[in-house]
Parts: sequence; C-alpha cells; structure tokens
Amino acid sequence: MTAPAAATTPSPLTDLSRLSINTATTRQQWGLEQAVAGYAAGGVPGIAVWRDQVADCGLDRAARLIRDAGFTVTGLCRGGMFPAPTEAGRRAAIDDNRRAIEEAVALGARCLVIVSGGLADGSRDLAGARAMVRDGLAAILPEARAAGLPIAIEPLHPMYAADRCCINTLGQALDLCDALGPGVGVAIDVYHVWWDPALEAQIARAGGADGSGAGRILAFHICDWLVPTTDLLLDRGMMGDGVIDIPRIRGWVEAAGYDGLCEVEIFSAANWWQRDPEEVVSVCAERFLEVV
Ligand code: ZN
Repeated sequence: MTAPAAATTPSPLTDLSRLSINTATTRQQWGLEQAVAGYAAGGVPGIAVWRDQVADCGLDRAARLIRDAGFTVTGLCRGGMFPAPTEAGRRAAIDDNRRAIEEAVALGARCLVIVSGGLADGSRDLAGARAMVRDGLAAILPEARAAGLPIAIEPLHPMYAADRCCINTLGQALDLCDALGPGVGVAIDVYHVWWDPALEAQIARAGGADGSGAGRILAFHICDWLVPTTDLLLDRGMMGDGVIDIPRIRGWVEAAGYDGLCEVEIFSAANWWQRDPEEVVSVCAERFLEVV
C-alpha cells in the first residue's frame, strides 16, 4: 500500500468574505439587477457577470448597480471563441473581444474570462484551432495591457474541445501564457481540471514555481462533479454533492499565492435553475463554509 498524499490544509473559511457567485448560477431565475440585489441580500461580496445579462441591463446601469452594491467583480464572462473558418470570421471575433475588454473595464472586473472556442466550423484541424486561439489572444493583448485588464484563459474539460474550448489543461493554458507574455493568466475551475494528474504541479507553476515570476492565477471557480453527470454542459453540482476534493485544490491554489475570491459557477438546468434563487444563494453560502 502506498501512503496517502500529505493533506494540503487550506486556511479555514469562517465567513463569506471570499465568496463570489457567478450569475450563471441563477440565470434562469434572475436577471442581472435581481442577482445583484439577491446576492447582496445574502451577504455575498463578489459577483461574476455575463455579457448578455450586462447588455440586457445596459452597461452603464450594470456598472452603477454593481458599484453601488460594493461588489468585487471576479470576472466578466466571456471573451474568446476565436477559431473561425474565414479571415473575416476571425477578425469579427477579435473585434468582439475588444468590446469585451471595454465592458470589463467599465464594470471594474478583475479579469476578462476567455473561453477559447473549439474547432472552426467544418474543420478537423485541432492544432489549427489552437493556433487561431493564440493569434486571437495576441491580437487583443495590446488593448488589454493598455487598459490594465488581465486576460484569464480558462482551460475547459476536454469533452468541450470540439465545440467550445480547445484549451483543455492547465498546463496547456500556461504554455499559452508563456508564449504570450505579460497581461495574461489563468482561471482555474475545479469542474474542468479536477481530473488532471498534473494539476498540483501545474497550479504550483501558475503561482510562479517555475521561475516565471508573478502569480498567474486570476480566478478560482468552484462547483462539483456529479456521478453520474447527465448533461455535458448543464448538470454541474453544488459544492459537496459530487466527487471533487475542493479543499485540497483550494489548498494548492492558495499555496501558489492566490488569495482572491472563490467564485461559485453552477449551470444546472434540472436542479438549481429550478429552485427559488434565494434558496440557491443561501445553499451556496452554507456549502462555502462547510465543504470548500
Ligand atoms: Zn469557470
């Protein structure tokens, strides 16, 4: 028998001061204005928002509501989706990402979350798609740097490589950061990376253990992996209802120097999107203190 790995003990979470909720978690029940009010009423100090909800609310109004509520904006979702079969399509994606940068700045977001995009329509060229992602990011980085807005590459589980995101491991995301230079880091979502045997080492690398200097962990997203998972996109679990060792991963992330908020992000068509959103917020808060 091999001995169990030494436990990583993260700092205890004794209050909600490091809790953020991504509005995707209540998106079927609440628009942005309701989410802002509902999260604030639940004592949640952080929020992450989606561009479509911001557009529905109006950018200026959304920024004012969020500022008045005193939230830390842990991210704007999302930029990316760079691969396209035509030059015009790739240019349109880059232009859209430039608008996303402006929106993130107006909202005071800590980062713009990038979901890279998968294969270009009609293509089987995965390496080509990854090159389009690199080129797209390189094209928008000058604006992001000038605005002081960090770009957070979020690796997604490989089951999304074809249609959503061809950056599939933390190591791959960090290779991209190395290639692109300053102004770009990673969003670590336990749902997407929990299975990766290299995760602990890559989290340490993201914190600068490879000699790269400043920490590149820009966001930490939490939820849980249900067994069985019945939908590839819309069946994420509440923390504590699945099999991810969240405290262990949080310990690694904090040991790597990340001291920001933990952002609950749950897409759950059949369960949490069907519940009273105030209940969802209170369960997020309870579980945050119990199992994160
Ligand atoms: Zn995420």
